[in-house]
Amino acid sequence: LLQYQGTMAEKPDPVKWSDIGGLQDAKNSLEESAVWIYKHADAYRRLGIRPSKGILLHGPPGTGKTLLAKAVATESSANFLPISVPDLIKAEVGESEKALANIFQTAIRCSPSVIFLDELEAIFSSRETSGDVGRKLISQFLVEMDHLDKVEQHVILLGATNHLDTIDSSILCPGRLDRLVYIGPPTIDERFSILQVLAKKTRLDSSVDLELVATKSEGYTGADLKAVIRKAGLLALKRPQKDALGHFIEQHDIDLALAHVSPSLV
Ligand code: ATP
Repeated sequence: LLQYQGTMAEKPDPVKWSDIGGLQDAKNSLEESAVWIYKHADAYRRLGIRPSKGILLHGPPGTGKTLLAKAVATESSANFLPISVPDLIKAEVGESEKALANIFQTAIRCSPSVIFLDELEAIFSSRETSGDVGRKLISQFLVEMDHLDKVEQHVILLGATNHLDTIDSSILCPGRLDRLVYIGPPTIDERFSILQVLAKKTRLDSSVDLELVATKSEGYTGADLKAVIRKAGLLALKRPQKDALGHFIEQHDIDLALAHVSPSLV
């Protein structure tokens, strides 16, 4: 949070659409609603269309919401300003509002930019935000969103939550976070795609059958699958090296790792 009291936002880790397995509908929707605004800004202006600047990603944890937000920034060559809402509201009384104002000002100054507000529900549901202090922060948040809707600079506001039901409807009305994108549990095909993405960053033995792993991993999110591959890698490292090529993950390592890492979504 306090990093934005400086003057610069940072370029994100370069997460591209191709670094995200599955989630094709979400990628298409974000490409249309968030990336085209940057790519075709003049066309929008000529047609007199005011594109929506606020999008809320919702769905269970570990399914790729943060990755998608980073990809929107990368694919638009925009600066990325990630904010953890629980950290924001932990600040001293009065400081949270200042920090929030600062984030929006920085985003406008560093445009094109993407503000990513993770765990957005915390602003409505925590002890800190019940009562006067919380109400002030929420109303400041609404003011900042309304201001953002009016400025010419390219700033996209992406929120993420695992608890859509607790989000106050004042935040979801037109001109605010008025577009909802659901990020659900990965299907079997999506798990296969996620495993293929994860496999690019590791060394798999020819015994590994990722389609089989996809069938065996019902209830595992992308984050769970990452944990499985990591665990399998650690198991492979414990084995004596066969030859000079070093360690490779075998199917057997993944099977053991699946037994070790529990699925989040069952
Ligand atoms: P949370 O709600 O807990 O913040 P999230 O939905 O934002 O979770 P991410 O932080 O994007 O989830 O995912 C965690 C990690 O899991 C990512 O860094 C990535 O390595 C892996 N992962 C999740 N989903 C995918 C995916 N669809 N493709 C590739 N990797 C994924």
